[in-house]
Amino acid sequence: MRLAKPLAALCFAAAFAAHAGDGRIDYDHQEKWQAAHDMSQSPIDIVTHDAIDAQADEPQTLVFTHTRAPMEAVDNGHAVEVETHSTDATIRGRHFTLTQFHFHAASEHTIDGRHYPLEGHYVFKAQDGRLAVVGVMYEVGRPNAQAQAVLDSLAHRQNAPHEVDIDALLPKPRGYYHYLGSLTTPPLTENVEWYVLPAPVTMSQKQMDAFLAHYRHNNRNVQPRNGRPVVHFRG
Ligand SMILES: [Zn+2]
Repeated sequence: MRLAKPLAALCFAAAFAAHAGDGRIDYDHQEKWQAAHDMSQSPIDIVTHDAIDAQADEPQTLVFTHTRAPMEAVDNGHAVEVETHSTDATIRGRHFTLTQFHFHAASEHTIDGRHYPLEGHYVFKAQDGRLAVVGVMYEVGRPNAQAQAVLDSLAHRQNAPHEVDIDALLPKPRGYYHYLGSLTTPPLTENVEWYVLPAPVTMSQKQMDAFLAHYRHNNRNVQPRNGRPVVHFRG
């Protein structure tokens, strides 16, 4: 069963120019992608020594609740995407609901110029439609049972758990870099809040290879920061 995908329509409605002939987003010709506004685009390179420390009295936390949630993983034609709708987040004091998460290889954001092999985007939506995306870096190391649950669902393995605990796909240190950017696929809509968690989460080489077997190059190039502030919350 395919679950409802409210965000998919938003992502792809105006994306014709960006698609290759087979309907996929053409990452080899990104210069043809067009944004209605293009001064605050994502991803960016996060230059850690340029980041501004958050005010001590600002609500700093990212709090996730109902993280163990039913899910279905799909290959949507340009990314491995997980449909799940039960998880909530309080982000800087406001309520958001997770609409889906998906993976880019290599990472879209870079940290001091460094790419990670995989970046997860956890797309949260507020009741007023505001989008907040939590970016998580993945690297090879200890196996991750929840990454395996996603892969098992994707492969339609029998007896696969159709449940995922998002908490184990997020790093334990919840410090993050925050800036205002855009969707990273057409229509590249701006005014998206980004929260990039720099502490990487591990998965095994085999698990990483299974993600990369689907997509090895579905990352948008880093975009000019154009003077936008990047705020560092130490968590
Ligand atoms: Zn993404």
